[in-house]
Amino acid sequence: MGETKVVKFGGSSLADAKQFKKVADIILAEDSRRFVVASAPGKRYVEDIKVTDMLYACYEKASEGLSFEEEFTAIKERYNGIISDLGIKDFTLDDEFEIIEGAFTHMAGRDYAASRGEYLNSKVLAKYLGFDFIDAAKYIFFDDAGKFDWDKTKEKLVPKLDKTNKAVIPGFYGSMPNGTIKTFSRGGSDVTGSIVARACNAKIYENWTDVSGIFICDPRIVVNPEPISTLTYAELRELAYMGFNVLHEDAVFPVRVAGIPINIKNTNCPQDRGTFIVSETAEPCEHIITGIAGKKGMSVINIEKDKMNSEVGFGRNVLRALEKSNVSFEHMPSGVDTMSVVVQTDNFTGKETAILDEIRGRVHPDQLYIESNLALIAVVGRGMKSARGTAAILFTALADARVNVKMIDQGSSELNIIIGVAEEDFEIAIRAIYDAFIKIKK
Ligand code: ASP
Repeated sequence: MGETKVVKFGGSSLADAKQFKKVADIILAEDSRRFVVASAPGKRYVEDIKVTDMLYACYEKASEGLSFEEEFTAIKERYNGIISDLGIKDFTLDDEFEIIEGAFTHMAGRDYAASRGEYLNSKVLAKYLGFDFIDAAKYIFFDDAGKFDWDKTKEKLVPKLDKTNKAVIPGFYGSMPNGTIKTFSRGGSDVTGSIVARACNAKIYENWTDVSGIFICDPRIVVNPEPISTLTYAELRELAYMGFNVLHEDAVFPVRVAGIPINIKNTNCPQDRGTFIVSETAEPCEHIITGIAGKKGMSVINIEKDKMNSEVGFGRNVLRALEKSNVSFEHMPSGVDTMSVVVQTDNFTGKETAILDEIRGRVHPDQLYIESNLALIAVVGRGMKSARGTAAILFTALADARVNVKMIDQGSSELNIIIGVAEEDFEIAIRAIYDAFIKIKK
């Protein structure tokens, strides 16, 4: 079992017959690629619609009691096109389509509807590969609260995989205790892949997508950034929190506890190494930093009061005011007589007056004001701990690019430095940081 690879293919990797062929070549190239987790067909071109979205729209109509024939026909055509272009003989999904159509009419639920995308695609892929088909509904479980239930899943899935040689398993869904279908949140096939990898104690979880790994920073900001060769789960968490969305957030946990590495690979360039995500690595860091991520849409509440530092409970009182309005904070840098609380503007909008009044009532500040249009940038890297001068390189680069740094926060683990800049400086700052740490080192 230890040699098994679990391979998950995303929607773009299974969008049409051409992509299916690439996927089959990849799977069949290695005997260890025993368990395949498949997404629903994704977009074939930019304006195309993912089958999952087609299913949601179709079910929406069904649940309103309207005719959904046109939408359902379009979905059937996507699958029938794949089957005929692949030249699969003696195989049709007609019976399945009929069952699904009936279930739509009888309000089988939105999650059931969406899950059919991966269900049908996995049926086709299993047939094409000559693999077994394992229905996730019978082996992946949620509890009554709708949380993934590992204990129950393990009990059923582990023995099933033990006695299966090769199989395709649909991603994205499982069953509730009452037998109804439930999906993970969008992009959830990544989570299924991770669960399957843990259940068979895989050597590696290969997550196949349409990019050759995770890039050091957003390619829409820096042209052709280098891919990251290896990063740790902890680094990924920091980067994901700041907007990297290569992998579903919950996909990390099942493999992380089992110490199984994830390899992000490109179906369209299988020879590329991709990015490895691991618990620990002795591999020397190529650069001092591993990645740069960031997000706009932040606001800061600035509080000033003489002798703030000697007032016990000051910080708690400020945070209570936010808690009362159900707003969480992102960062809280402070000085001797000043304190700033960074919040997401979206969560804060409409609650400003209530929060500021509450802060005034609780701590009686000398000054209290909001600054908006702030962006946060996280510079992340396990290499920073042992490197001297990281901050110097970072702030020199920003000063040279004439970016004003409004806030600095360094995590205690020395894994990241977070800076706040005006939204208009966001892209300039990221390019300057990339150039200083990556380009110049080449
Ligand atoms: N098909 C689902 C979605 O589009 C799940 C997945 O692809 O992972 O979100």
